[in-house]
Amino acid sequence: MYSLLRYVPSIFWKRKPIQLTFFVTRKCNARCPFCFYLKSADQPANGAAELSLAEIERLAPSLGRLLWLAFSGGEIYLRKDLVEISKVFYERNSPAIMLYPTNGLLPELIREKTEQILEHCRRSVIAVKLSIDGVYSDHDALRETPGGFDKAMRSYGLLEELLAEYPNFELGINTVFCSRNQDKMDEIIDFVSDLKGVRTHTISLVRGNLEQDDYKDIDVGKYQRAIERLEKNLKAKTANIYRFKGARLKAAQDILQRRLIGQTLVTHQRKHPCYAGRLNLVMTESGEVYPCEILSTSFGNIRDHDYDMPRLVHSNGALSALEPIVDKRCHCTHECNFITNILFNPRMYPGLLREYLQL
Ligand code: SF4
Repeated sequence: MYSLLRYVPSIFWKRKPIQLTFFVTRKCNARCPFCFYLKSADQPANGAAELSLAEIERLAPSLGRLLWLAFSGGEIYLRKDLVEISKVFYERNSPAIMLYPTNGLLPELIREKTEQILEHCRRSVIAVKLSIDGVYSDHDALRETPGGFDKAMRSYGLLEELLAEYPNFELGINTVFCSRNQDKMDEIIDFVSDLKGVRTHTISLVRGNLEQDDYKDIDVGKYQRAIERLEKNLKAKTANIYRFKGARLKAAQDILQRRLIGQTLVTHQRKHPCYAGRLNLVMTESGEVYPCEILSTSFGNIRDHDYDMPRLVHSNGALSALEPIVDKRCHCTHECNFITNILFNPRMYPGLLREYLQL
């Protein structure tokens, strides 16, 4: 695996993005009512076409080395050239971690493509995260996808077989916490902790503009109880942690992150700097670049900046879009940003160390 030490300069200098979330496609074979991409599913922004592989090959070198590349969508495995896209980023950006979230509805295809990616990208950690939002029929009802749970479990079974052969492979589960499953968290957490191939179980708070906003009517106390249960399992060693070097640090960051998210939910305030737009970038399938998934002001489109990311992020438009972030005028609970906000902020290190020593 690529050494994590090469990202140390980003602790002190925060003008070079090291984390990219790339929405590779809007297409999806599900219609989960709590998905913030649902409102415009299958309709690329402004009718624009998805970035082609050739365009991705043009823009990737300008990004430099990445710590973390997270694919998103839509259902990312519906993108026919996902393997080729992965190879481009692997060759040009040497990401330490590449993340593949999936609804698990296409078990054989997911296994086949994941194995091809694992085969080629040997020095990156390849993490596949399956979505499980309920157990058995609860999952299907919540996602309005009959048979979805069985398919996700089949994907789990097929992917689990790859763990022995590929030491760079990590298998995880993500659960979206929303008003409709907040009373079932104990059951979900216990179910996932019995899946022996699973190395991490993350809980993401429902977010974004939804067609039915009441999915966001969550009880903060129930969220806190769920994250305490995850933390207890980790500390009692009844839950696994990732296998890669630095996994214990990642587990400590997860615990601290969930606590800070709980505090943000209660206070509606951001207490720490957010590095969105500086260390993190979000790019849509049609090349629109944002500082994060929450704010709607774009930095610009990579197509209009000659596929040159530094040129785009240092443009006047991008610099003015950064102002509310630096001035702490926004707050949110988006987990992806908390990762860099914790790992690259020295003020977080005492808390991080405390959690690290307890694992
Ligand atoms: S606090 Fe949230 S909304 Fe504000 S910039 Fe960071 S990630 Fe975006």
